[in-house]
Amino acid sequence: MDFLRSVPSFQPLSEETLSKLADVMEEVRRAVGNHHHLDLLTSPGHQVNVTQESSANQEPVHLRELARGDWFGERALQGEDIRTANVIAADTVTCLVIDRDSFKHLIGGLDDVASNRYEDTEAKAKYEAENAFFSSLKLNDFNIIDTLGVGGFGRVELVQLKSEEAKTFAMKILKKRHIVDTRQQEHIRSEKHIMTEAHSDFVVRLYRTFKDSKYLYMLMEACLGGELWTILRDRGSFEDSTTRFYTACVVEAFAYLHAKGIIYRDLKPENLILDSRGYAKVVDFGFAKKIGFCKKTWTFCGTPEYVAPEIILNKGHDVSADYWSLGILMFELLTGSPPFSGPDPMKTYNVILRGIDMIEFPKKITKNACNLIKKLCRDNPSERLGNLKNGVKDIQKHKWFEGFNWEGLRKGTLTPPITPYVSSPTDTSNFDSFPEDTDEPPPDDVTGWDFDF
Ligand code: ATP
Ligand code: MG
Repeated sequence: MDFLRSVPSFQPLSEETLSKLADVMEEVRRAVGNHHHLDLLTSPGHQVNVTQESSANQEPVHLRELARGDWFGERALQGEDIRTANVIAADTVTCLVIDRDSFKHLIGGLDDVASNRYEDTEAKAKYEAENAFFSSLKLNDFNIIDTLGVGGFGRVELVQLKSEEAKTFAMKILKKRHIVDTRQQEHIRSEKHIMTEAHSDFVVRLYRTFKDSKYLYMLMEACLGGELWTILRDRGSFEDSTTRFYTACVVEAFAYLHAKGIIYRDLKPENLILDSRGYAKVVDFGFAKKIGFCKKTWTFCGTPEYVAPEIILNKGHDVSADYWSLGILMFELLTGSPPFSGPDPMKTYNVILRGIDMIEFPKKITKNACNLIKKLCRDNPSERLGNLKNGVKDIQKHKWFEGFNWEGLRKGTLTPPITPYVSSPTDTSNFDSFPEDTDEPPPDDVTGWDFDF
């Protein structure tokens, strides 16, 4: 199971599907692939080459090399009996093999999985190059341009590379002193690790971190379209189709994170920022946690209006708490305010515990939207859409999303409902203005505090 989970192409598959796959897969040691199986390579460090014959009497052309976690033979599984490539191992390798019927039965089509495959290798190379670039940088290589956000932790500044001024980033600057005083070390560490690992178009990228004696720094991609919260405040509420687009962005982010065993736990319009195209991305992983699969966690966290009943009742929670908050987000985007609220957090919790059926839905919420919200906001986490047998697909296939172009969203070809005006990489006009930082610099950290950051 650990191995199957680690295969990038299998990330979209649910834990349940993976465990069924594990049951039917057989381990074989072999020299070459064969026609009616899908072979998943498990042994590391062997040379396995893919070649293709261009014409009968020419040398086969080398296409690529396979590594652990790569797979081949999928054409045969799709019922195409033509031979498209040769897979040749330098010596005997270990593969996990699944036959055509089991695969069809378990996964149906290979489309989801197959479409990811070549991009994986390409993306990997891209991230490695990026890594090399960012690890060569120093704090001193950046200029601060303007402030994007302020919080208890410190500030998020828009910075630019001195050597290449059109290259701008968001730098989250956290006071070490404050982190220690509020005992946030674990949260910050997990924020860093989760964001570093997350490579999704719907999650803000964290390129690298820095630290000095007073601060921790997180160098992120800058999303200059502003917070969804600001746009919602200015417009009052969103139309059905606008809400659908932003909700879909979050669904994609959640599908990605949950497939990695990560829960997010802080969904709200403040934590969704638009890039300059107008696509929404999830930011702020201060409450996110890697819990693995079929496991629960008990830490009370989140924003009162968005917390799920099982969190309030301290029953233990899992990814389904994120789907609860997705229902709350839909409601807030469609109406301008969240369904459950009160003058203070305790009163808000009381309203949440009375359930979604006690809430009156304004007329502007369409029947299909109402239906989806109610399915996401079930009191019982095991009845929530997103957490059933078909996982996130149930949400994507819900009537409210009928006709929605998921493929276009993933590829970035779908036109967003609102295109922010961003005149240049240094334009911060989509963010509120913040007064200059007049705080005394915090004290240097005392030796012996190891942040491991
Ligand atoms: P708080 O203590 O206020 O809750 P926080 O821990 O929530 O702070 P973040 O949400 O990560 O901190 O950042 C605060 C704000 O800074 C965001 O709401 C957003 O407006 C802005 N911001 C953060 N990261 C970026 C980014 N990568 N690009 C653009 N703006 C950003
Ligand atoms: Mg935040």
